[in-house]
Amino acid sequence: MLTVVIPSYNEDKIIRKTISVLCSLLEKEQIDYELLFVNDGSNDNTQRILEQEASLNPHIHVIMFSRNFGKESAIAAGLALSKGECVAVMDGDLQHPPKVLVQMYRLWESGYEVVNGVKKTRGEESVMHKFSSRMFYKIMTQTTGLDMSGSSDFKLLDRKVVDILMAMPEYHSFFRALSSWVGFNSTSVEFDVADREEGESKWSTRALIKYAVNNILEFSSAPMQIVTVAGIVTFIIAFVVSIQTLIRYFIGASAEGFTTVIILMLLLGSVLMLGIGVLGLYISKIYDEVKRRPRYIISKYI
Ligand code: UDP
Ligand code: MG
Repeated sequence: MLTVVIPSYNEDKIIRKTISVLCSLLEKEQIDYELLFVNDGSNDNTQRILEQEASLNPHIHVIMFSRNFGKESAIAAGLALSKGECVAVMDGDLQHPPKVLVQMYRLWESGYEVVNGVKKTRGEESVMHKFSSRMFYKIMTQTTGLDMSGSSDFKLLDRKVVDILMAMPEYHSFFRALSSWVGFNSTSVEFDVADREEGESKWSTRALIKYAVNNILEFSSAPMQIVTVAGIVTFIIAFVVSIQTLIRYFIGASAEGFTTVIILMLLLGSVLMLGIGVLGLYISKIYDEVKRRPRYIISKYI
């Protein structure tokens, strides 16, 4: 059986269409399936529609969160409660083409354990969004050594891989990176991101920046190493300036150099603050991990 995990947050305008498109396609292809919707604390009619549809169609299951926990948590809950021998994750807004889902399933049947959906084109997005996501993936690829360009959450995983992902007790997880980190016999299919027909993207610029910073911290300690490099650079500067200051002292011109003092103070101050900031970011991650709070709270399962 194929489980399709669909994180949904305020998708009441399109969810019915998603259901009918997926059901008719999977039935036509004669794939035994389960649609597992994760209602991520929507505050519109999503829950009501999902419950209605679930009562009509035994293939549909619904996980309802007690509040909005974010897409990563929704994916984690979906994987945890999935029953299929293979599990696909796809967006509820039909931006991930259902045809590709069938293609992924066929690849799984032919023996692949991880099938990654790779974005060929990115659909309707602002120039700024395109630019920043390109920057983000460049940094991610550089710092983690995983090729992340064009990666998406549209994936199909074998049960084996799902179980391994579920056994990872990380509080902050980054699904699209973790599923390539685990390895396995994997392949990818390219797809064009369709335009969103109804509703709007849930991502504000602020949310995206936070998401990017979190995921970089999650997967890499490079920012801390940058602080060390900054320390070495300021040390070299300090060394040169110290020699200059000593020379000035011995030739009796030491009263000057007020400008140097101010510049050094400001420079050192900001480097120190930055360093403490980066440490703080990592400590807050450690704090989140040691608290061992659940990643999500399920208030209802249908
Ligand atoms: N989503 C979610 N929780 C959130 C935000 C989004 O489950 O807090 C879901 C949303 O319903 C959709 C998918 O994640 O199915 C992708 O969201 P969206 O379309 O807003 O992102 P984009 O396609 O712009 O990257
Ligand atoms: Mg979308």
